Amino acid sequence: MSSLPVLVLNSGSSSIKFSVYEAGGGQRCRLFEGAVDGIGTDLGKFWIRDASGKKLVDETPPLPSRSVAFKLVADALNSGEFPAPAAIGHRTVCGGPGIQENQRITPGIIDEIESYTDLAPLHTPIAVYIMREALRLFPGIPNFAVLDTYFHRTIPEVATRMPIPTEYVEMGVRRYGYHGISYESIVYQLEPELPEKLIVAHLGNGASISAIRKGRCIDTSMGLTPTGGIISGSRTGDIDPGVLLFILKQIARSTPDATEAAEKLETVVSKRSGLAGVSELSNDMRDLREAIKDGNAKARLAVDKFCWTIARWIGSYVAELNGLDMLVFTGGIGENDTASRSEICAGLGALGIVLDPERNNVRGAATISAESSAVTVRVIPPLEDLMIVNHVVRLMSA
Ligand code: ADP
Repeated sequence: MSSLPVLVLNSGSSSIKFSVYEAGGGQRCRLFEGAVDGIGTDLGKFWIRDASGKKLVDETPPLPSRSVAFKLVADALNSGEFPAPAAIGHRTVCGGPGIQENQRITPGIIDEIESYTDLAPLHTPIAVYIMREALRLFPGIPNFAVLDTYFHRTIPEVATRMPIPTEYVEMGVRRYGYHGISYESIVYQLEPELPEKLIVAHLGNGASISAIRKGRCIDTSMGLTPTGGIISGSRTGDIDPGVLLFILKQIARSTPDATEAAEKLETVVSKRSGLAGVSELSNDMRDLREAIKDGNAKARLAVDKFCWTIARWIGSYVAELNGLDMLVFTGGIGENDTASRSEICAGLGALGIVLDPERNNVRGAATISAESSAVTVRVIPPLEDLMIVNHVVRLMSA
């Protein structure tokens, strides 16, 4: 395949991030990246910068809707000032049980992904909107869905099966797992010296952890939805189902409509819980670290709960892997919050995990384990856009 510009689109509830790579054969070169941020506000941000970091666009337009936001991106990329994309890769959080392979997007595929919006309600609505708009605004250009669940397709049934009646399993209820593009990018960066027994902790606003044997995922903490697994910024993570029933019954007293009550419950577990719920302060680790310095006990408890949960999960994955060669931290907290890394690892000496405090005191890629550690501990930033480009190139040449 000759070299082609590939556009990567990564949409969130209030932002659309994008990048363009020149890709062909084994060559990948990022030409530029950008974002529209603040969708739903009068003072949004729209920027594009080239590979050297030079800002090519830097505007603060009103962004009343996602349609205005995406049109800014499409108009800029179709203006002739930038290389027009020859293919588009869409980061796709979940496609439901019928879409587990990365593939070319058709209107039928978009309908299928949309029908499973409940699995990723924060991400899917804007993603399917942008897929439809991309087909319309970039006519004739192939679009591909690259799934966050794809990396987890190798997880055995004993881990994906939920212990619930089969009728719900047949509706698609199972462990899908998320952050898969990030995990895949860590495995990609570790090759060709990929350790056999690997645990990766992707700790960002959403947080998850995966057990990977010989490059294949064997278990991951997020489940049917990104709300499952470890506690994160504003989500519960795994929780006694009796807690959900208790809260639902409280909500139902003032909300007799079942759908409305379920939506209120969803807000509690996805937006008002996690670090934000326990700290009653913020979902953001930087705010919590500042508050801890000021002696805020609730912030301390929230962060302790976060690190304690992750340490327990690491212990259970060491058992699943029957040992551990390497532990990798990634994501905004994993890459930057040196204190979380040391607090998580503090009680894991018995598993052979020992950090070097000085090495740990860095931000960004590094090996942070002590010489005496039986397990190598590393910090590796994810390369999600590059992974999406790799899938697009593979699918185009297939
Ligand atoms: P998302 O899941 O939205 O992609 P990120 O991977 O960007 O999230 O991670 C966001 C989290 O990373 C926030 O909790 C933020 O406080 C934390 N974070 C980012 N930079 C730092 C830092 N320098 N120190 C501590 N925490 C940080």
